Amino acid sequence: MNFELNKIIRNNIQKLQPYSSAREDFTGKSDIFLDANENPFNNGINRYPDPFQSELKKQISEIKNIETEKIFLGNGSDEVLDLAMRIFCEPITDNIIICPPTYGMYKVLADINNIDAKEVLLNSDFSLNTENIVKTCNRNTKMIILCSPNNPTGNSIPKKDIEFLLNSTSSIVLVDEAYIDFSDKESAVNLIDKYPNLIVSQTLSKAYGMAGLRVGLAFAQRSIVDVFNKVKPPYNINTLSQEKALETLLQEGNYTEKLTKIKQQKQVLINALENISFIKNIYPSDANFLLVKFENAKKLYSYLLKQGIVVRDRSNQPLCEECLRITVGTERENKILIEKLKEY
Ligand SMILES: *Cc1c(COP(=O)(O)O)cnc(C)c1O
Repeated sequence: MNFELNKIIRNNIQKLQPYSSAREDFTGKSDIFLDANENPFNNGINRYPDPFQSELKKQISEIKNIETEKIFLGNGSDEVLDLAMRIFCEPITDNIIICPPTYGMYKVLADINNIDAKEVLLNSDFSLNTENIVKTCNRNTKMIILCSPNNPTGNSIPKKDIEFLLNSTSSIVLVDEAYIDFSDKESAVNLIDKYPNLIVSQTLSKAYGMAGLRVGLAFAQRSIVDVFNKVKPPYNINTLSQEKALETLLQEGNYTEKLTKIKQQKQVLINALENISFIKNIYPSDANFLLVKFENAKKLYSYLLKQGIVVRDRSNQPLCEECLRITVGTERENKILIEKLKEY
């Protein structure tokens, strides 16, 4: 449909005169910084961080093969989602569409921002009900949030469904790909040049093993990234996180080795679970977790807790009756889980 970025950005954001620091005006080389009231004595963290994380973005740009101008970094992808709501959705009047069962933060962030989150349930096979999403959209629908691979169901959304929504609505379509690195399916990132209404978010928290740093990634056309940069807190990624993320990304073997191990362990876990009689279903997963249906999920959940094993109870979520979500752990962790399940 006819998407116009300027029509969908909130008025106050369009008019916003962003905060500017003197250091952004200055592009030359200098070693005398008397502009920001920092403590001048060097201890490695006495200076404000690079507001646009240029070193880290350069590295991410190489890994993901996307120009730095099309990359935005947030304090976790939760900040990316929060900023997206604040950029596009007028509190009280505008709405977004989410597709439960899915990641709980979408609804929480919408509630915090006082934005109506319209829920269009997944089909019983966890596929997207695209017809219903389009029917539910009205002129105040500013964003459709899709999660692929979806948390907690583990399945991916086919590219044709994403493109169908990109073409048939005039809203932003935000595809949350927090688990994409575990998946063999194609990323929606390859569509950003084609669609001005697409935002793809990813994260260093899962496959990259840096949940403690809080670095979320967003990919979109430059015009969208520019708005995010205008609205974000100036120093949203702290110095230590920028440095540690860069250092960890440069240890390339680190990532691939661990990813391979997690994928192997996932298969080991599936094989073992298939032999446990009180398991009703192990849903196919493109992520690093399994959604598993049991006979009595709540009872098993409490038993596992008593054994010191924490899994995620999803049994109260629609379409997830009697389901627990189990993250693939280390060989040792998975072994203990299997032993305890056999003893149960
Ligand atoms: C874990 C997860 C995230 C991660 O968010 P960060 O803030 O980057 O740690 C985002 N989306 C989904 C669906 C997740 O499961």
